[in-house]
Amino acid sequence: MRPVVLCFSGLDPSGGAGLQADIEAIGQAGAHAAVACTAITVQDSQQVFSFEACTAALVEAQATAVLDDLPVCVIKSGMLGTTDNIAMLTRLFAEQIIPKDTSFILDPVLVANSGGSLGDEQTLVAAFKKLLPYATLITPNTHELRALSGEQDLHIGAQKLCEQGAWAVLVKTSHDFDSGDIEQYLYIKGEMVHKSILPRLDGEFHGSGCSLASFIAGRLAMGDELIEAVIAADRWITQTLIAADAPHPDDDSTQLIPNRFVPF
Ligand code: PLP
Repeated sequence: MRPVVLCFSGLDPSGGAGLQADIEAIGQAGAHAAVACTAITVQDSQQVFSFEACTAALVEAQATAVLDDLPVCVIKSGMLGTTDNIAMLTRLFAEQIIPKDTSFILDPVLVANSGGSLGDEQTLVAAFKKLLPYATLITPNTHELRALSGEQDLHIGAQKLCEQGAWAVLVKTSHDFDSGDIEQYLYIKGEMVHKSILPRLDGEFHGSGCSLASFIAGRLAMGDELIEAVIAADRWITQTLIAADAPHPDDDSTQLIPNRFVPF
């Protein structure tokens, strides 16, 4: 069968972010997505109203059912929702219930693009630090990078996350809305190995971070090296954003939904 990426992610009923973004992105990358659902959010394309997290036991049961059945070669996590869920995933790595050679893409989701809460930030940050040493790649936006590293400078922050145990860090400036073009830096073991500049398109996008991280996960599952996977994901995400759907076309202050089925 196609290589399998097991995602730990939340349900966004609007279909823009979360597990639906993961499934579509991983499918477009050529791999098969399996999902352990971590939370059910109540949100539309514009804002998060509330969420209920699944218990760690329920998430673990979903994950182990898949791990026992399918040839999982990459793990991807997005919204985990509670420190219990983060600690449970950390334990699955520590106890090698997730085999040691499994790549792990950690998207350290703290808040939604709209600013809506997806968990208590301070407690999530503390728990993420213990998960970090298992990450092949962590994909923070600038807010998440600063919160996790305690550094304002993006480069020092990325190096710090490598020192804390992440093998690689992809820094994305897409959420810094007052900056010009979007810059991305890929650090591996504390060294910057790749920099890309992407055009800043008009509008804000709901689920772009989930989509990018999941496409990278899918390409890694398909056998790409990390740099290759990041370059392929940059090309793909740009097309999905150019072709994004506008739920409210008369209001340009609203968030758009990436079209992940665009030809690329
Ligand atoms: N996961 C879930 C379930 C979400 O609802 C969101 C945002 O709403 C995210 C992750 C993060 O989304 P983004 O890719 O926009 O950062």
